[in-house]
Amino acid sequence: MANVVVIGAGFAGHTAALYLGHHLGKKHNVTVINKYDYFTYVPSLVWVGVGHMPPEKTGIPLAPVYRRMHIHFVHGKAVELHPEAEEQFVVAERADGRRERVPYDYLIIATGPKLNYAATPGLGPHGGYTYSICTRQDAVHTRDAYLELVQRMEKGERVKIVVGTGHPGSTCQGASVEYISNIHKDLVKRGVRDKADLVYLSNEPALGDFGIRGTKARAKGRLITSQEFMEAIFREFGIHWEVQKGVYKVEPGIIYWEDYEGNYGETEFDFAMLVPQFLGNRMEVKGPAGEDLSDRVFNKGGFVLVDAIYGLPYERLEKNPDAWPSVYQNPYYTNIFAAGIAFAPPGPISVPHTTPNGTNITAAPPRTGMTSGIIGRVVALNVIDLVKKGRMTHSERMSEMFTACIASMGDSLWDGSAAVVLTHPVVPDFRRYPNEEGRDLFVTHMEIGLSGAWMKRLIHTTFMYKYRGYPFWQIIPE
Ligand SMILES: Cc1cc2nc3c(=O)[nH]c(=O)nc-3n(C[C@H](O)[C@H](O)[C@H](O)COP(=O)(O)OP(=O)(O)OC[C@H]3O[C@@H](n4cnc5c(N)ncnc54)[C@H](O)[C@@H]3O)c2cc1C
Repeated sequence: MANVVVIGAGFAGHTAALYLGHHLGKKHNVTVINKYDYFTYVPSLVWVGVGHMPPEKTGIPLAPVYRRMHIHFVHGKAVELHPEAEEQFVVAERADGRRERVPYDYLIIATGPKLNYAATPGLGPHGGYTYSICTRQDAVHTRDAYLELVQRMEKGERVKIVVGTGHPGSTCQGASVEYISNIHKDLVKRGVRDKADLVYLSNEPALGDFGIRGTKARAKGRLITSQEFMEAIFREFGIHWEVQKGVYKVEPGIIYWEDYEGNYGETEFDFAMLVPQFLGNRMEVKGPAGEDLSDRVFNKGGFVLVDAIYGLPYERLEKNPDAWPSVYQNPYYTNIFAAGIAFAPPGPISVPHTTPNGTNITAAPPRTGMTSGIIGRVVALNVIDLVKKGRMTHSERMSEMFTACIASMGDSLWDGSAAVVLTHPVVPDFRRYPNEEGRDLFVTHMEIGLSGAWMKRLIHTTFMYKYRGYPFWQIIPE
């Protein structure tokens, strides 16, 4: 009987758990360790942050799902790995403080991002001056502050709202684009849009880059870039954008940044939501004599080392789609896998930039919910293969992966909208697609409209169904 352990129950870990439970749950031991006792559907936090969705609607209690799927659930935090013990194990610190050894034959690390607010002094809701929608608790806090601000606007006050990235190396620009667009729509509805200046502040080389080097697609029969597409939307919404800026400090009401040319400047704000730098959730890895083996599993940023080619300069990385991992397997301990944001990418997708002062302003590569879910499935199916057949048969690189980004721009099913950007592959592959973009221009597509709002809501509903592990969950794709 095999012991399979998954750490983290987000898009990657929970997807992996569903497949593992389904295929192995009855005959083997499948265990999930997660900090929270619920799964969060993170994309809908943009709606929580403007008060359009109750926070409970984004969560699924994990224990009943796992009971049904024959999965053992540990509500707690994994703190140590012991990959060289005779019986390999994870040390989990339960929510009630008890420590527990969880043995594994196969381990999937899917711990998502560590939100590194500390890298930007003054950033973030925990002792800083900006808000965040990256977790459910933070989104609720942000919603309350936003609604208070709206009250001030309703009394006639004029305010400046800034949304974007809070570090030169941040990722997740899509979430900021969605949040600022939803704020715009909400303020229009409340009749106070004229009381707010909306500013999108980002480390991207250009609007529409999204950390994936932008894209080009046929929209309304014409080939346009994602930059042109996003600029047209922001122009229509009256949202001012400032890109190529790395935020390095925040003080009450002032964001300090450096731009691509090395100039230093400030942006004032009354309310700001800025996404921090994402690191990985590094854990202690101990050898039999207590020695530190962490560098065999994690890189310095806390991301799990996998079957990628690391250390290539960008000029070589962009020409080598095979530098991206295919099975997400740790090369040192081959029974350890990583999925979702937890795996260490070989480098950025977006074109990197260093300022004359030596600051690296580069959008980090996103591993979105869809990408994380796909990787979770690939890794789980390989572990199932290994348990049943002793060899892996699944692989999918981000340079082969299709992704759909549906950016909400107002949640109403009557007059809301969403920008839909379909990209294939996520990481450009200039060998297979020798055009300017390195992408399949037949598949890549951009559209905005009310149907997008319906699609976004439908996706929320179907994913909440899938992630509850209800009948036929497998037919809903990641
Ligand atoms: C506001 C917002 C909107 C977004 N919108 C979209 C969107 O529209 N579409 C899209 O595709 N993507 C979107 N994303 C990105 C998407 O949410 C992430 O890509 C996805 O959540 C990553 O999945 P993951 O499983 O790697 O990490 P997570 O979802 O963060 O899950 C990691 C889990 O591991 C747990 N964990 C961490 N450390 C430990 C530990 N030591 N022990 C136990 N448990 C641990 C965490 O508590 C968490 O439950 C959005 C992100 C944000 C912030």
